[in-house]
Amino acid sequence: MDALKHFVELIMTPSAPVFIIGGLIVLLVPILMHLWVTKSTTYTVLPSVLLTGPSGAGKTSLHTLLERRGSPSETHTSQTWSAVELAVSEDDGASSFRDDLDAGGKTASKFLLVDTPGHGKLRHYAHGRLTLEGTQSTRLKAVVFVVDAAALAEPDVLADTASYLYDVLLALQRRIGNTSTSKAPYAIPLLIAANKTDLFTALPAKLVRTSLERELGRIRRTRSKGLLDSGADASGDMAAGGDDADDWLGEYGSAEFKFDQMREFDTEVDVISGNITGDGPGVDAWWSWIGSRITAWQGDRKHAKN
Ligand code: GDP
Repeated sequence: MDALKHFVELIMTPSAPVFIIGGLIVLLVPILMHLWVTKSTTYTVLPSVLLTGPSGAGKTSLHTLLERRGSPSETHTSQTWSAVELAVSEDDGASSFRDDLDAGGKTASKFLLVDTPGHGKLRHYAHGRLTLEGTQSTRLKAVVFVVDAAALAEPDVLADTASYLYDVLLALQRRIGNTSTSKAPYAIPLLIAANKTDLFTALPAKLVRTSLERELGRIRRTRSKGLLDSGADASGDMAAGGDDADDWLGEYGSAEFKFDQMREFDTEVDVISGNITGDGPGVDAWWSWIGSRITAWQGDRKHAKN
């Protein structure tokens, strides 16, 4: 009892050792807690696939269809991001989105499909996830950009779709340039899901690709002209040139924009037609694209471990 009294007296008496030890506890405990929590969560964060694209393209419909494994349902307007946990078969990566892998007893690779709102002001939700830190903390493996192929022939829809796509691709491109952290960026492929193929006005995948390439090239010219007009090049120093290159999508200085130019920045772009409602090819090709990106990555990881 005396010993306890002595100890209490000692720690209650202001003295240098008590202050130092107290100070160390106050400083170190949160740091250790932080390290412990982040270390234990790196193993529980599932790889993710980001679903993005302009409003009305069909993101919510696709998200809901995959979540319910094919049962039809009403869609709701997405105001913030929402995620659904999905799984592809590890055996062949070719499981149907309708399969219940848990029930089938197959080994499955789980991942999160993250839906983001396409409405102008809410687009920053998608943007934060595409920075180097954002892609690494959410273990982003692929991006699915949904477009309304049936309305893409309308100039305002094409302009709006392409300007959003420009920002998404530019964010992925900048991720490669920004190597200030120790973790190196890895490849993130992008699928342009040309939706609403059931409608007769829908452009075929090839035309969706070339229309978007042409419009992205136009946006690139307009934006670089904006830089020139604002006098960004007037100083003539290296930094101004660097900024120009920073805002330029694809191969710097090239006359036309082609999706293949994104390969240099570790982003492969594919355009695949499909539809969520009505008659047509459905979503199977998109699902196997996603599945093969998830399983390819799982394969790489196993390979790296051996
Ligand atoms: P979001 O704004 O990108 O989330 O788009 P929604 O999922 O809300 O879809 C917008 C509208 O397009 C809804 O009325 C859907 O029913 C419709 N839609 C989605 N996919 C298809 C499709 O494949 N074909 C047709 N005809 N309509 C679709």
